[in-house]
Amino acid sequence: MSDFKIETKCVQGGYTPGNGEPRQVPIIQSTTFKYATSEDMGKLFDLEASGYFYSRLQNPTCDTVAAKICEMEGGSAAMLTGSGQAASFFAVFNIASIGDHVVASSAIYGGTYNLFAVTMKRMGIDFTFVAPDCSDEELEAAFRPNTKAVFGETIANPALNVLDIERFANAAHAHGVPLIIDNTFATPVNCRPIEWGADIVTHSTTKYMDGHGAAVGGCIVDSGKFDWTQYPEKFPGLCTPDDSYHGVTYTERFGLEGAFITKATAQLMRDLGCVQSPQSAYLLNLGLESLHVRMARHCENAQRIAEYLKDHPKVGWVRYPGLEGDPEHERAKKYLPKGSCGVISFGVKGGKAAAAEFMKGLKIAAIETHVADARSCCLHPATATHRQMSDEELIAAGVPGDLVRFSVGLENAEDLIADIENALANV
Ligand SMILES: *Cc1c(COP(=O)(O)O)cnc(C)c1O
Repeated sequence: MSDFKIETKCVQGGYTPGNGEPRQVPIIQSTTFKYATSEDMGKLFDLEASGYFYSRLQNPTCDTVAAKICEMEGGSAAMLTGSGQAASFFAVFNIASIGDHVVASSAIYGGTYNLFAVTMKRMGIDFTFVAPDCSDEELEAAFRPNTKAVFGETIANPALNVLDIERFANAAHAHGVPLIIDNTFATPVNCRPIEWGADIVTHSTTKYMDGHGAAVGGCIVDSGKFDWTQYPEKFPGLCTPDDSYHGVTYTERFGLEGAFITKATAQLMRDLGCVQSPQSAYLLNLGLESLHVRMARHCENAQRIAEYLKDHPKVGWVRYPGLEGDPEHERAKKYLPKGSCGVISFGVKGGKAAAAEFMKGLKIAAIETHVADARSCCLHPATATHRQMSDEELIAAGVPGDLVRFSVGLENAEDLIADIENALANV
């Protein structure tokens, strides 16, 4: 599959049925797998043979879909997780533990920020957040001797910053640590971070990959390119024997291509159990089969709506990386030449009250916290997710009272524009 283009990988990747086998990916809805002898099963437990024994560790349906995403991102190994949150947690916790430190972009999903700054901080891991457009000196100053990774999002949710992946990868590598990129909003159809130097890619598959608001899920893809063995003192978990797994040394036994994902599966999934169900993986695969077609339409619709909003007298400002003049436009041209995503943010003139009024007039776009769905949805953070905050706190959090986040779906663009026009007329 590796020679095929992204569209072919979306449709055909991960699964090639043999003679007389099901054309569609089978849902192996089984917790456990049967063996003839204890010795057969023992080999699996010792990681000496590959195969399945319990779906908390591995399941054939989930592995098939992970293999497709792996091919799409150009990675060496991948695993599904129960959610995007679990993917972010596993990707970092697989190489950082108590006493360690991670550099992260400050423009990241709120749930990820909370995971890092509150929950993982409680586990003894420190994070330094840097603005994605910080100076080279500021980025350099964020590193410490105990830094184990750098983390950022290709397109930040919801701020829509486009990360300079090459620059962050170079900084990470100069300090002997990997760059982890959350590629949820761009998807591998629009950007493949590994091609720009990222080492590990994570996804909330809940968003565009699923695309239909049907199943929560996540994925981690390893490029297989980061050489952990150059820094054994930094990454003892990958380079020294794992006592909890019969003394296996992951880099020795599985090579650079397999070490990271095998450790995350054998250790973290075994102990923490954040699995994706085979049924959800099946639904995810249906989404992946049309991802390339849907992303193109999401971007086309969003571009039209962003351009319409930009000229509207009742709209104060619009942020969309595809817009000429947008602060992210130049980076978007480099990293996202086929388009960015379907999410736009804009300000309704008149502030919080005007934006709240606008929301009441929408008929097609539904009010949801979700994004990246086939159906358009819309959120006014100041009266919904961020309603406890004062006006000053809202500005500090990057969500001023007038801000509306619009996730443009796959409906007819003129119908959507008419819906917005009608809602703005109410204001
Ligand atoms: C939604 C989201 C997450 C979290 O994913 P869940 O599947 O909701 O757990 C992580 N990163 C980004 C960019 C997201 O949009």
